[in-house]
Amino acid sequence: MANLSLTKVPMPEQKPEERITNFDEVALGYTVEQAKEEATRCLNCKNHPCVSGCPVNVRIPEFIAKVAAGEFEEAYKIIASTNCLPAVCGRVCTQESQCESKCVRGAKGESVGIGRLERFVADYHMANAAEAPVVPEKNGHRVAVVGSGPSGLTCAGDLARLGYSVTVFEAFHKAGGVLVYGIPEFRLPKAIVQKEVDNLEALGVEMRTNFVIGKTLTVDELFAEGYEAIFIGSGAGLPSFMGIEGESLIGVYSANEYLTRVNLMKAYSKEYDTPIRQSKAVAVVGGGNVAMDSARTAKRLGAEKVYIVYRRSEEEMPARAEEVHHAKEEGIEFMCLNNPTRILGTEGGEVRAIEVLSMELGEPDASGRRKPIAISGSEHEIEVDTVIMAIGTSPNPLIRSTTEGLDATSRGCLIADETMATTRPGVYAGGDAVTGAATVILAMGAGKKAAVSIDKYIKEKNEG
Ligand code: FAD
Ligand code: SF4
Ligand code: SF4
Repeated sequence: MANLSLTKVPMPEQKPEERITNFDEVALGYTVEQAKEEATRCLNCKNHPCVSGCPVNVRIPEFIAKVAAGEFEEAYKIIASTNCLPAVCGRVCTQESQCESKCVRGAKGESVGIGRLERFVADYHMANAAEAPVVPEKNGHRVAVVGSGPSGLTCAGDLARLGYSVTVFEAFHKAGGVLVYGIPEFRLPKAIVQKEVDNLEALGVEMRTNFVIGKTLTVDELFAEGYEAIFIGSGAGLPSFMGIEGESLIGVYSANEYLTRVNLMKAYSKEYDTPIRQSKAVAVVGGGNVAMDSARTAKRLGAEKVYIVYRRSEEEMPARAEEVHHAKEEGIEFMCLNNPTRILGTEGGEVRAIEVLSMELGEPDASGRRKPIAISGSEHEIEVDTVIMAIGTSPNPLIRSTTEGLDATSRGCLIADETMATTRPGVYAGGDAVTGAATVILAMGAGKKAAVSIDKYIKEKNEG
């Protein structure tokens, strides 16, 4: 008999007043009992609609049935057969708009906590697994992967399982992409990402860090070195600014720079002397996950006041509802319907305030969201000493400008067809480099598709 509770088994969490004083993970994960209880809410639907919502096709009801039966390693094998980053997905996947949005239990009450169960299974495996993964026999073909974010890691993992010798080239000194330099420790601990990277290395994937494709070697030089195909998963790491007065003042950061300093360069730890501003009042401009992460990070670094400044209303915010909820619990102040017009500085060139214009909502625009319209004469100042711009990013032009025949859109995104093939034969691309800033699971789905296409391309080339 299924558990008919209309709500998910709650996830244990650190209390807000406690967690704003540390960078430890906020959500603590299910216990064995909680996981089994949540698993019994799954109806094991025959046509499993939830699976169609998962871009990497996790066999959801099958793994959940194993959790309910207490067979956690079996559950892990099922997930890992299609998803090479389950501990990551269980934490930061946008489940509410993916698998869980299709769950029949969501029609009346809350969907099954698929992400929470996936996280439980991955963490259980990491804590208890003794067996080393079986290294597939090599097929003698080499593939290069540019970028070690979720798209690159997924493509590398799937190709390694097929027997390819895969080398991942990463510009930073650490593998993981946004998972390590962007998403903060309190949402996704770096050790978890590292373990997933270690799993791939154990499968035979070679990670070459501090290696910038387009500088250290070009795409053409990779082909000359004997790589038969190349996957580009270089993300969208180039930050956008508003182009308003005062953006070059001391104390204005892009969210990417701010989060990289804190996450990858460990500015949150007293053991490192990474420079970061000791702010009292911070304005974060934007309404997405990146804005929420920046605001919650600033709070943990000791800022007394942290404002989210967003030009539309809370309803239009692209951030996950859970992130908005957590930010509010932590005392972040939401200043919606406010659009920055300039940043004001002291005589010494440091930020002293941000000037904003009040907005009201008009008719829906091309994005389907109601268009913000300025209320003339409503300018007012918010006193802050730091401004973080979290209004979007685009792909870095380095690779496309150093590679012949690689076409891009006017927004700088690489053009790839549904097989992830670019306009240059043998070069495939996916993730944020193609879509612009999107999500972990969409990047992973693209990496997976590209692995299938690369396998087909290399086989056909060698047979023909
Ligand atoms: P990335 O993760 O950007 O990785 C690209 C990698 O390529 C980087 O490591 C980069 O250093 C490397 N690279 C770039 N150029 C070169 C080069 N020339 N040579 C070698 N290496 C290169 N998504 C969610 O689903 N849930 C969330 O909660 C979420 N939160 C986010 C929070 C923040 C702060 C940010 C910034 C993003 C968030 N996202 C979230 C979005 C998600 O992280 C991205 O969509 C995803 O990481 C894209 O994966 P990717 O593999 O395309 O690229
Ligand atoms: Fe859901 Fe993401 Fe897991 Fe797929 S990978 S089942 S979308 S949480
Ligand atoms: Fe279980 Fe929901 Fe999937 Fe049905 S749709 S199998 S209830 S997770």
